Amino acid sequence: MNIHEYQAKAVLKEFGAPVSRGIPAFTPEEAEKAARELGGPVWVVKSQIHAGGRGKGKFKELSPDAKGGVRVVKSVEEVKASAKEMLGNTLVTLQTGDAGKQVNRLYIEEGAAIDKEFYLSMLIDRETSRVAFVVSTEGGMDIEEVAHSTPEKIVTFSVDPATGIQPHHGRAVAKALKLSGDLAKQAGDLVTKLYAAFTAKDMSMLEINPLVVTKDGQLKVLDAKISFDSNAIYRHADVAALRDETEEDAKEIEASKFELNYIALDGTIGCMVNGAGLAMATMDIIKLYGMEPANFLDVGGGATKERVTAAFKIITADPKVKGILVNIFGGIMKCDVIAEGVVAAVKDVGLKVPLVVRLEGTNVEAGKKIIKESGLNVIAADDLDDAAQKIVKAVKEAK
Ligand code: ADP
Ligand code: MG
Repeated sequence: MNIHEYQAKAVLKEFGAPVSRGIPAFTPEEAEKAARELGGPVWVVKSQIHAGGRGKGKFKELSPDAKGGVRVVKSVEEVKASAKEMLGNTLVTLQTGDAGKQVNRLYIEEGAAIDKEFYLSMLIDRETSRVAFVVSTEGGMDIEEVAHSTPEKIVTFSVDPATGIQPHHGRAVAKALKLSGDLAKQAGDLVTKLYAAFTAKDMSMLEINPLVVTKDGQLKVLDAKISFDSNAIYRHADVAALRDETEEDAKEIEASKFELNYIALDGTIGCMVNGAGLAMATMDIIKLYGMEPANFLDVGGGATKERVTAAFKIITADPKVKGILVNIFGGIMKCDVIAEGVVAAVKDVGLKVPLVVRLEGTNVEAGKKIIKESGLNVIAADDLDDAAQKIVKAVKEAK
């Protein structure tokens, strides 16, 4: 689960990390009020969307030479004018894709006098099963580009969970950033606080780009992005409350209400499958026959008729879906429950695209009978290969 920059900074502040003063705003009036409260003389108006590259981003509705999604301004009037331009408009950045993201929130922050910009991130390194640090002197820019063209400028190390964060980790960061004296001390202090925040809140990623040294010699977190481990959210009601559903795929939110493992994808074949492995195999074989899956969906082992109905409705509600493949290898999951769910969903919302059903396993005859007697226009398939070929063919013919 991702959160906004201003929320991430509030979390880091709780752990004592140095962040600038700032106030979130949802309207131009709130932005103006926030600017007065902060006092200036320099403010930064920052679009809050779940994507980076905002500074260099462009607003779809504004002229191409209008300023981007992060603006440094020098008067309260400019704060308000920028807020008016940003709110409700669509910001397109390197990370949003062409569709962009609508800006519904702003963060009004006091301007920092920047001397140097660095990069610092933390993530779970799955190879070592440890929390890893990634540090570079090349801050404020695209770290993928740095990794590509000057990989020697990136320093990484991981922390042994048995000992936790140690003074030598702080020294490693200071060295990587070429900091000495008081700034090296600040770096050590910051690293300790970030590690505490990362582990206490079950983060999976924390990216500070840039981490800056200000002209008066202070290390400061100027941008922050946090992703939390979704499997641990139940332990953190405070984190769950930060969720901004408007930033997420509506279909995925609906699916999570029914405890369905659903991920929206870009293709045209909607898939309803039981078991993550079979769902992967189904997606692969759809690709093998020349089309792309519209989603990953594992209805799980013990799905009820209601959950299956919900799943089928989520798939049919997706306008990208030109055909549906139901692929059930029933062990714990019973084929008749799947059939009942599909029939109930179609009764409710209709079926405008071809549907191929492959049922195998527990109560398979009962399942097939339910579908047959429902009068639904279903193409039956014998195995996975047959099912994939049939749905691809049906979609091509329906075009
Ligand atoms: P993004 O990474 O989405 O473009 P950032 O928060 O990193 O957004 O902002 C882009 C750039 O704007 C930063 O690299 C920094 O140079 C500048 N900036 C951001 N916040 C401030 C601030 N409070 N004071 C001064 N400059 C800022
Ligand atoms: Mg940034």
